[in-house]
Amino acid sequence: MLPEFFEFYNPTKVVYGIGIARDFRAELDVLGIEKYFIISDQVINDLGLVEKVKKGLIDAGIRITGIFLDVPPNSEIKTVSSCAEQAKASGAEGLIAIGGGSVIDTAKATNILICKGGDLIEDHSGVHLLTEPLMPLVVIPTTAGTGSEVTTVSVIYDEENKVKIPFTDKFLLPDIAVLDPEMTSSMPPKITASTGMDALTHAIEAFVGVQWSPFSDIFAIGATELIFKNIIKATENGDDLEARGAMLVASNMAGTAFSHSMVGCVHAMAHAVGGLYHVPHGVANAILLPHGMEYNFEEIKEKLMRLAPAVNEDISGCSADDAARKIIAAIRKLTGRLNEMGALSLRLRDAGVPEDGLPEAADAAVADGSSWFNPREVVAEEILTHMKNAY
Ligand code: NAD
Repeated sequence: MLPEFFEFYNPTKVVYGIGIARDFRAELDVLGIEKYFIISDQVINDLGLVEKVKKGLIDAGIRITGIFLDVPPNSEIKTVSSCAEQAKASGAEGLIAIGGGSVIDTAKATNILICKGGDLIEDHSGVHLLTEPLMPLVVIPTTAGTGSEVTTVSVIYDEENKVKIPFTDKFLLPDIAVLDPEMTSSMPPKITASTGMDALTHAIEAFVGVQWSPFSDIFAIGATELIFKNIIKATENGDDLEARGAMLVASNMAGTAFSHSMVGCVHAMAHAVGGLYHVPHGVANAILLPHGMEYNFEEIKEKLMRLAPAVNEDISGCSADDAARKIIAAIRKLTGRLNEMGALSLRLRDAGVPEDGLPEAADAAVADGSSWFNPREVVAEEILTHMKNAY
């Protein structure tokens, strides 16, 4: 059965290749501009990744008008303001983001401020408020998790109100996404594991989400399969470029899936503990994913059965209940393995969340926009029970 209505809009050009971030000049020709401002962070710069891209661009005759490196993990409103000020003053005609979700989302929100001005929260937070394209945006992800290089979303931390604010608009979709496994090989095991689990959470929440479509399903299943086959390999051996490449592609596919089908209560809880207690996004999702699936169990169990081949589980002869339990157990087994490798926490208490902070986090999860798309209504007392289970 098909949904009554769905749409699929996927205009970002994705190019993949080992070493391609050193030279993708031919891809830029189509954008017809020569002056770019680079947005990245200090860690990525210190690893030489910014220089690698910059050198290729300059050799190809592109002018770099400036570089902004002050993006913190879980980027903030004040970061976006200062980045936009510098990028605008530099006379840039386009932006190049080199980094993880924090950098990419900063670039998307910066693009809004450069082109539209005003106050980011007051004037621009919300859904589909833009009426015309922004400046060209080229994205080179250095983590394999958020898929932000192909999503309509930017998530920025509002430091005053301690909440993560989503900005969602089709005009936030980047023009070009350059996927180069070499750009992710420096990720240490903990970042590899948590960002990879972020991608798995996108895939699974998109797959069971209320806005599903046959398109989002196929991207979600493909991403799940690639992650189950490659996340341990990429975490164990960062130089395994085949596993790194597969994780980049998986993250991209999961981003495409959730950009259409949205995410649900796992993200709502993750945004809450991220906003209140600074738990990194991927870590929060990894811990909360099986608990969110248990919260939704009755609504999602039939559909989860279709994920069995992707998570390598034999469910022949199983009831829907037993099959769905096997799928959730497979996810717990995966995170358990990553935990044994010292790459992932399994409990909120190990990620810096205080026990007496859980009720406030549950309330914040209910208020979070991701809850609107959850297959089951997100109710504070009940979600609190599951957050306590994750504690
Ligand atoms: P991140 O960008 O915050 O990076 C985490 C850390 O890893 C940083 O210290 C960074 O410097 C470092 N790092 C990045 N690449 C590296 C590399 N190749 N080698 C070594 N270190 C590296 O992490 P993230 O998980 O990619 O992004 C998280 C942010 O993205 C959150 O704010 C989250 O809310 C947001 N997000 C956005 C979307 C979207 O669609 N826009 C989706 C999911 C999450």
